[in-house]
Amino acid sequence: MKVHAARWIALAAMACAGSAAAADFPTRPMTVIVPFAAGGPTDTMARLMAQQFQAFFKQTVLVENAPGAGGTIGVDKVVRAAPDGHTILLMHIGISTAPALYKKLPFDPVKDLEPIGQVADVPMTLVARSTLPASSMKDLLPFLKANRDKVTLANAGLGAASHLCGLLFMSTVGIDLTTVPYKGTGPAMSDLVGGQVDLLCDQTTNTVQQIKSGKIKAIGATSPKRLSQLPEVPTLAEQGLTGFDLAVWHGLYAPRGTPKASLDRLNAALQSVVKDAGFRSRLAEFGAEPVALDLATPQGLRGHLVKEIEKWGPIIRKAGIYAD
Ligand code: ASP
Repeated sequence: MKVHAARWIALAAMACAGSAAAADFPTRPMTVIVPFAAGGPTDTMARLMAQQFQAFFKQTVLVENAPGAGGTIGVDKVVRAAPDGHTILLMHIGISTAPALYKKLPFDPVKDLEPIGQVADVPMTLVARSTLPASSMKDLLPFLKANRDKVTLANAGLGAASHLCGLLFMSTVGIDLTTVPYKGTGPAMSDLVGGQVDLLCDQTTNTVQQIKSGKIKAIGATSPKRLSQLPEVPTLAEQGLTGFDLAVWHGLYAPRGTPKASLDRLNAALQSVVKDAGFRSRLAEFGAEPVALDLATPQGLRGHLVKEIEKWGPIIRKAGIYAD
């Protein structure tokens, strides 16, 4: 009898602790890790999301930049963080290319992280320094052919979206350019504006304002249709570059072992973000949109991540690109 009573008390205590954990989460400021430098597209997306999370949770939500190695350093930081839901990761398509690109990747994106949900898809644009003597593919191609040893193409490191887009571009036009890696396309953009590098392929979150203000030139968009924010900029497909339908998907993750109650709260916050009119209109300013609600879920992100790892692995191995 005594044993039974003790068991019931213990079970009741556990049940209370479980619901208290859900109700009490978060108990302190939260941190969103961005695996790229400040001022770039992943950083911009994280800051928009953090504002919304702050309102949802009524807690401070900080954004921390942990750049390097194409984003893998920041991902690893979250893999190793306390699994209590207070440290989460915003990372894009690069998390699915890293397993094939990095021979010594210290984590497995599927096994070592808890998916919270997909966030948004962001198109890209190929952009050039404003002084480059070419403004469309028609003049860019002969310029690249004549200057292939001199032209530089910036990116945010091996496996970053800018790196993938640059690879796709070089293989489509059949010209190898000198690539210049940065810790994020925030600093890459500063150098493009300053004229220190010639070309960059980056998310519209980082390029639309600079194109509109004339600080850089747009060569073309990777979207299948012209961007409503930049109607005068043709798509790359329109200019004869096929296979360029490239949008950068983003996911939100927590360390493996984060309690289900906290993951559920994080997912509820994400669902409210992707529905939010303010978030949607900010993204629309960049020609981007949040994902459908059923993709902003753990299953929606896990399924996509697995599919993307399977898609990129053979492409990368065939191209023979990797980091030791
Ligand atoms: N998203 C950029 C890229 O993958 C990096 C960044 O956010 O700075 O190139």
